[in-house]
Amino acid sequence: MNKFAMEKICIIGGGIAGLTMALVLKKLGISFQLFEKSEAPNTRGAGILLANNAMQIYKNLGIGKEILLKGNIISKIHLTDNKFHPNSIQDLAYFEKKYNSYNISIHRSDLQNILVNNIGEDNISYGKELDTIDINNKTIIFKDGSIINYDYIIASDGIYSKIRQNLFPTAAIISAGQIAWRGISTISLPEKYAHISLEAWAPGARFGMNRLNENQSYWFLVADNDGSVFNIEYKNTLVKKFPLLAQELVFSTPTQNVYMDEIKELELLEQWGNNSIVLIGDAAHSMTPNLGQGACQAIEDAFILGELIQKYSINYGINKLFHYRNKKVKFIKNNSRKLGKISHWKNAQCINIRNYIMRALPDSFNRILVEKLFRLAKIDK
Ligand SMILES: Cc1cc2nc3c(=O)[nH]c(=O)nc-3n(C[C@H](O)[C@H](O)[C@H](O)COP(=O)(O)OP(=O)(O)OC[C@H]3O[C@@H](n4cnc5c(N)ncnc54)[C@H](O)[C@@H]3O)c2cc1C
Repeated sequence: MNKFAMEKICIIGGGIAGLTMALVLKKLGISFQLFEKSEAPNTRGAGILLANNAMQIYKNLGIGKEILLKGNIISKIHLTDNKFHPNSIQDLAYFEKKYNSYNISIHRSDLQNILVNNIGEDNISYGKELDTIDINNKTIIFKDGSIINYDYIIASDGIYSKIRQNLFPTAAIISAGQIAWRGISTISLPEKYAHISLEAWAPGARFGMNRLNENQSYWFLVADNDGSVFNIEYKNTLVKKFPLLAQELVFSTPTQNVYMDEIKELELLEQWGNNSIVLIGDAAHSMTPNLGQGACQAIEDAFILGELIQKYSINYGINKLFHYRNKKVKFIKNNSRKLGKISHWKNAQCINIRNYIMRALPDSFNRILVEKLFRLAKIDK
């Protein structure tokens, strides 16, 4: 009999973290049940950049090719001024070769469909919102009144995780003081931008774009939140700080399809669970999106937890995930927050110095930083 057959593992939350976790367990032949509060798979959403580290994992899980087919390879990252003149160009060819893996931009719903199809709907229960959890009796009570027992919970219920609120009630959610608008335009980016992720910095604002496929381009805008800009229409004013192409992408996206979010992060936790519960993804370490690593780190959590379970035991994995993951997550969270602030500098002299340094930095310097993002942890035996 499978050594895990007697244990009841519940995944709470079917976002990128929970779905990836489900796929990891399925590949390991470990039974589980995933509970998601939405009534059905989410078919909406903007774009997402899956960096090389996330794609190494998805390749390992057997869905790399499917993602590649639906998405678009990003081989360079351009950080530019507000006229799209580059201050820094990161060529990712070195990492593509080293890890035999790519950075991919993809529509979130395409990614979700690929994950759900590969997991199979049998192990996913929709319309099941966790309401309360009784840790002493290892019991979950859902909003619909149903009650189940569990042996282990993998909590992937996002930044407002109820499970985390139960375990660590004082953990604070912190505003970054910025607002993001995101959308998908049916305007295809010109060929010269086909495989570039471009992010343009203006005082107090940012614009980013990349191609998702031949018919769709993903864009985002970010602005300092001075209290007056939390308004879906403000994107139309803000985008005028950037070239015509940016304006075309934003104006061609119906406003009802634009997502507006206040950028927030969870304070750093000192533990991610207890003996039978572990938090993963945004529930454990929601971060600002400035390095495009939030979901990638959720994917790493799921993968490393799977490795620990396979090599040791569920109990060991649940208890040790934090030990294996915390250092990298902390590094990324801190640097992402700093980058978000630096990119919005308003003082002209500071901007000139910043841009000068960015242009002067050798490729080798950037490569060391990127390596820290793309290298996956090794599990010691
Ligand atoms: C503007 C912006 C841009 C971003 N861009 C990128 C990017 O390019 N690359 C990248 O890697 N990351 C990016 N991120 C971060 C990324 O979106 C998140 O880190 C990632 O989606 C987190 O996934 P998750 O599964 O942990 O949480 P979530 O996506 O929040 O999923 C949580 C799931 O749990 C469910 N749930 C919640 N409560 C309950 C409950 N009580 N019972 C049952 N189910 C429940 C929810 O319905 C949801 O499905 C970006 C974030 C933002 C804000």
